[in-house]
Amino acid sequence: MSIALIIIAIFIGVLLFNTAKFKPSIIDKNCGIVPYTDDKIDIEKAARNLSEAVKIKTISNIDYTKFDFDKFEEFISFIERTYPLVHQNLSKERVNKYSLVFKWKGKDTNKKPILLMGHYDVVPVERGTEKDWTYDAFSGEIAEGQIWGRGTLDDKISVISILEAAETLLKQGYIPERNIYFSFGHDEEVGGNQGASKVAEKFKKEGLEFDFVLDEGGAVIEKPMNIDKTVATIGICEKGSTNVKITVKGDGGHSSTPPKNTALGKLSVVITRLEKNQMRPEITKPLEDFLNIIGREMGYGARFAISNIKILKPLLYKIFEKNSMTNAMIRTTTAATMAKASDAPNVLPQKASAVINCRIRPGDTVEDLIYHIKKIAGDIEVEIEVLLKEVASAVTDVNSKQYINLCKVIKKIYPNVIISPYLMLGGTDSRKYEKVCKNILRFSPYKLTNEELATMHSTNERITLENYKRFITFIKVIIENN
Ligand SMILES: [Zn+2]
Repeated sequence: MSIALIIIAIFIGVLLFNTAKFKPSIIDKNCGIVPYTDDKIDIEKAARNLSEAVKIKTISNIDYTKFDFDKFEEFISFIERTYPLVHQNLSKERVNKYSLVFKWKGKDTNKKPILLMGHYDVVPVERGTEKDWTYDAFSGEIAEGQIWGRGTLDDKISVISILEAAETLLKQGYIPERNIYFSFGHDEEVGGNQGASKVAEKFKKEGLEFDFVLDEGGAVIEKPMNIDKTVATIGICEKGSTNVKITVKGDGGHSSTPPKNTALGKLSVVITRLEKNQMRPEITKPLEDFLNIIGREMGYGARFAISNIKILKPLLYKIFEKNSMTNAMIRTTTAATMAKASDAPNVLPQKASAVINCRIRPGDTVEDLIYHIKKIAGDIEVEIEVLLKEVASAVTDVNSKQYINLCKVIKKIYPNVIISPYLMLGGTDSRKYEKVCKNILRFSPYKLTNEELATMHSTNERITLENYKRFITFIKVIIENN
């Protein structure tokens, strides 16, 4: 988007905020090219609804006893009040108290159903950064043509857009072709084990199998990786998150007469060796698919390397290793995140331990990881305990009808974008549904600049009104096309 357009967008945003009355057509005309929109969407009302949703502090916590479940209850009542047609026409079930499943009965129940997902828990605001927000993180302020606050990108936007789209369609008397399910998790940000996992188990027990599952994931990004194009990425696989605890033993005693290496000293050596000697790189299938599409848009050197991938792999690895993000695309990463040794400054530790968060790439196993750590530790004796075991998810076939259909819908909303599959480095709830679906598609239909993308889980998370409208439109098209 050019500077002039940004200025116009801000100007219109201020104007809209001041008058509190705006027409969707004005937003579209001035804030970006939206080739396909739906005027039946009342964006003004929808904006107020998302704003209200943001105000409810549904913050999840790794310690479940610290959840403020009253807020989750408040959120459930809020959507009940706000989307009456959804609640009259769809059946609703609460799974494990706070995760929600809606079932919208379609005309042909012999067709496989589809599942649209989202999560309504959010991450907290990092302590000490509250004042850095232009508008308070839980204000849901509608200003400057945007809705501000936690969850506007990740991921109340999905939940609210799905409900907005369904409510709009129901108002028109629409009946879907097949059964459509919505599932809204309440603990995605802390692993999804109480929410999405339980919902997936329930679906499995009922013998359900979905044609496809659509969850958050990729997005439409302007100029990613310095490419002068707009690229829509669809997550077809995600790395697994495994935690291992490495323990090194030592002699205790008084620190006034220390040995040459304490347990903590030895542990530090192991961690340093692990950082220096990373796991074996690989151009996995999802990465190869990504490079085949994105590579074409890069400079001559990159194009040459990618078209000769087999011979030039070592060179590609060298290039990828230079940047932490591209490095994470080619290998299982090992990040030392927590450590513990003695409880007092003058006591030698009898043991020292560190937790390493490892993100497993497709093709690697947890056994490969343990073997690697032991090999790297060499002469230092280590004990390894696996605290959390998760490998990479299954890979969705990019030649499947479901993937291709999603591309068609994206093209309808964004005719000029390049669409590419990719390997997600982070995790989502969607992998929990592998047991009930082969085609898991991870895509959020908003168009973001790199700066906007960086606000996710960070300061000034916000969404423009035109992005929000595109989101609702996209969900409507997905529903209508099935
Ligand atoms: Zn999320």
